[in-house]
Amino acid sequence: MNHAEKSPMYKHYFEISSKLFRIYSVDTLFETFVSSLRTLFGADFCFLYLPAEKSRRLQMSFMCGTGFEELTDKEIHRKSAIFDLLHRKPNAYVTKDLLELTDNDFDLQALYQSGTELIAPVSMPENKIGLLGMSKRSGETSTYSLDDREMIFSLSQMVEIILENIHQFKKIEELSYTDSMTKLYNYRYFYKRLNEEIFRAKRFKRFLGLVIFDIDDFKVFNDSFGHQTGDHILRQLGSLLLESVRSIDIVCRYGGEEFCIIMPESGEDSCSHFVERLRVKLTKHIFENRFGDEKLSITLSAGCAIFPSNARRCDRLIYCADMALLEAKKAGRNKCCIYSELKQKSKSKHRK
Ligand code: GH3
Ligand code: MG
Ligand code: MG
Repeated sequence: MNHAEKSPMYKHYFEISSKLFRIYSVDTLFETFVSSLRTLFGADFCFLYLPAEKSRRLQMSFMCGTGFEELTDKEIHRKSAIFDLLHRKPNAYVTKDLLELTDNDFDLQALYQSGTELIAPVSMPENKIGLLGMSKRSGETSTYSLDDREMIFSLSQMVEIILENIHQFKKIEELSYTDSMTKLYNYRYFYKRLNEEIFRAKRFKRFLGLVIFDIDDFKVFNDSFGHQTGDHILRQLGSLLLESVRSIDIVCRYGGEEFCIIMPESGEDSCSHFVERLRVKLTKHIFENRFGDEKLSITLSAGCAIFPSNARRCDRLIYCADMALLEAKKAGRNKCCIYSELKQKSKSKHRK
């Protein structure tokens, strides 16, 4: 007979733990943790205190149910007797049993008086702990049994492993979105974000600018100074772009010697002014050479397209910016071209 057949509580335990292990967001993990425990034990409320950043206190961070309201603003000091006990002898405790053990600790008394019947430490990475609190169980006269407490404690211990998994997942996700040479976002991230930003711009009826840059004659540059110097230029250009944009702009390496910037809430004027300023700034910029004292410089060509005036969909917007870039190259390089100007030009050509 396995554990799940032994008792329906074990079945719930497996359900909750497998649900928690499938979560990849810290907030969702804690929300699900408190709400699942409350539901499983039929508690009036369930809450979680977490260590506040740069403070010696724990703050009420996640809660569900009713009746915990007077605790919402209460903080628990990390030096309190209750916190110390949970650290030294981690277990799920019936609050009342602890009052004597902690010499009527002030924080514990406040929890007890507001109806918290059980407390347990929630393990977190770096030897930190949170504090789980649960009220009495609706309609039940008995308190939490030893089996209940074992189960709650075991789930609370699991949180640390799940948080570590989430941390690893985020690290891998970050790597998969990062261009290893320039440390800018890569094409995969660019495409995902452009879709999201278009969706947002549509929803809030805002403009969105897309700029694609391409270094002029970079092949010749590589042939003259070597590919390693070329790589060094790409890295420096990446940093220069990053320090030139607003915090809401998203700078990515599109591929090769091409970069792009997603500019939320930017129409044609602000987008083209920005690009023109950047283009001029770059013509004056001296790049560092890793292997010599020569002063290096490059120029850029750029193409801009605007949502929704030029295109309403992601692929089409990229196409428009690309066509504008091509036009800038055709016009002699070191130029910025806007897609709508290109359309105007072709209209007047047809009229002639
Ligand atoms: P254009 O002005 O028409 O853009 O000319 P170009 O020479 O820049 O363009 P082309 O498409 O002919 O060549 C792109 C060059 O960019 C050739 C390629 O070696 C270089 N390139 C692409 N990715 C990298 C990279 O990661 N490092 C270095 N050093 N060079 C790169
Ligand atoms: Mg190119
Ligand atoms: Mg080029």
